[in-house]
Amino acid sequence: MTTLEEVRRRAEIDAQSRGYLLNSNPGFLKDLLQGLRANEERYGYPSCPCRPSAGVFELDRDIICPCDYRDPDVEEFGQCYCCLYVDREVHDSGVTSPIPERRPPEKQARSLGFEEEPQTAALEAAAPEKVRKLLYCKVCGYVVFREEPPHVCPICRAKKEFFADIEP
Ligand code: SF4
Repeated sequence: MTTLEEVRRRAEIDAQSRGYLLNSNPGFLKDLLQGLRANEERYGYPSCPCRPSAGVFELDRDIICPCDYRDPDVEEFGQCYCCLYVDREVHDSGVTSPIPERRPPEKQARSLGFEEEPQTAALEAAAPEKVRKLLYCKVCGYVVFREEPPHVCPICRAKKEFFADIEP
């Protein structure tokens, strides 16, 4: 079983690798780390402590911490959705605020077990088709079929730069 200290260390290393910091409020930080640990124990992977998980790896892949939305959120708002990862300014001020959910509504709905809204399906159908491809992590060999590599490999945590196309 992963200990809280291991979860904390993992998050610290990840934050350092991107130039981020962890939330400066010790109690709040501990709650988030405990949430990650609980999810890892429950599902086998540390899904986001602030979002509902489907408990199915394929459906939760984008919200395995650090999620696909962390980097754009820290870049735009100085914090991730849960406020676990923050930039220097937010860290030093200690002030965090709710930010918009960047996760697409259809993925949220699937996590909650809802069918897609007809309107969402229609919008998706009308959108230009996204090209998905087979990609693999050059560090651990994890294979994924999607448009873009994940920001961080959910298995070995290698950055997206370590992903490459699998040529047919
Ligand atoms: S918002 Fe993303 S990076 Fe922040 S705790 Fe949740 S999964 Fe991790």
